[in-house]
Amino acid sequence: MNCYLCEKEIDTIDIGAHRKLIDKCASRYMCRDCLSRELGWSREYLDGIIQMYRERGCMLFPPIKKEDL
Ligand SMILES: [Zn+2]
Repeated sequence: MNCYLCEKEIDTIDIGAHRKLIDKCASRYMCRDCLSRELGWSREYLDGIIQMYRERGCMLFPPIKKEDL
């Protein structure tokens, strides 16, 4: 699947972030670069928010693996 704005390939974290922050029922998604621009956030801030949700065990994101920490 690809970002509908810049057509970059997206991963499950991009999809989870879009569903969490934009639209839970979306059928097309943005990459994290476009998503942070859309929200008016820096990419670093967005990554921090995603990390927080993942640490809380949010089901929209893949579980944190040991190698991610
Ligand atoms: Zn994009």
